[in-house]
Amino acid sequence: MNALLESLVDGVVDGDRTAIGRALTLVESARDEDREMTVQLLEALLPRCGGAHRIGITGVPGVGKSTFIDALGMNLIQLERKVAVLAVDPTSTVTGGSILGDKTRMARLANDSSAFVRPSPSTGNLGGVTRTTRESMVVLEAAGYDVVLVETVGIGQSESAVAAMVDFFLILMLPGAGDELQGIKKGVLELAEMIAINKADGENAERALAAKTNYLGALQLTQPLTPDWIPPVVTCSGLTGEGLDELWNMIEEHRERLTKNGVWEERRKDQQLSWMWAMVEDRLLTALKTDPDVKQMLIEAESSILRGEEIPSVAAERLIQAHLGH
Ligand code: GDP
Repeated sequence: MNALLESLVDGVVDGDRTAIGRALTLVESARDEDREMTVQLLEALLPRCGGAHRIGITGVPGVGKSTFIDALGMNLIQLERKVAVLAVDPTSTVTGGSILGDKTRMARLANDSSAFVRPSPSTGNLGGVTRTTRESMVVLEAAGYDVVLVETVGIGQSESAVAAMVDFFLILMLPGAGDELQGIKKGVLELAEMIAINKADGENAERALAAKTNYLGALQLTQPLTPDWIPPVVTCSGLTGEGLDELWNMIEEHRERLTKNGVWEERRKDQQLSWMWAMVEDRLLTALKTDPDVKQMLIEAESSILRGEEIPSVAAERLIQAHLGH
């Protein structure tokens, strides 16, 4: 390991914010020449990981995620935890900037020395952002952050990617009976370790209770994800802070229970393996899609399938053969 890298590792382990920022930039880099250094950095940091409580938070835009994370994060700092916030936001490629994990959205946390808020990198597909987020978690855990909050928008595939990298997956919902299943895909509810009806304040309080009843009903139709844990439905307000203490206590209770029954360790091991496979799939798919020999075939295959002239599995085989054939 060269001297530059050694001092970066030392800086991260000491919790030096500049070093942490630099390490995250390295991890986020898409340049091939940075990759080797990133791998060495992560290998050096990996033995110091595993202590953090990893929590995924999702919900449609406007549900109050940033307000909620700001408030919950500040509560955790009161409990003497160091808090990191990361975002999985593949849509930022489209919008040209990040709408999640933005420092201006979490003003108190972003300015607190016990917290580190990192916006989602503004380039990359879901696979790329997923890799970055997992590797950024390694950096932040090695730097001593006790709780890592991973934020994502509840409207795409990113929820299952986030659920696969955290210990606890929380879905924020809006009050307002009737439209309660709007926006969030049904399969996403099944990933939930907890549903929180946010903005349960003022005149929303009553509607939030109605929504709670609805979600309890909806959850009864889904298979529990975790042994010994029935996902609770709670109401809270990121704005007033109401319900946040109870919510956090439940998250702690979940950790205690799963540590006791062994599911915690087992799940983390499974996640390491699924991380590897997700990366293999992503790299192979990218290689195939960007293969100049396959590019034209891909376009033709898509249109012949749409015209009903070709069986998808036959086209898939042809594309794979063309890619592997050199
Ligand atoms: P995000 O897009 O999910 O991150 O949502 P924001 O945190 O940016 O909040 C969207 C809007 O809802 C803002 O105008 C907030 O002031 C408001 N808001 C956020 N949390 C609450 C809450 O707990 N109660 C109420 N009444 N409004 C809230």
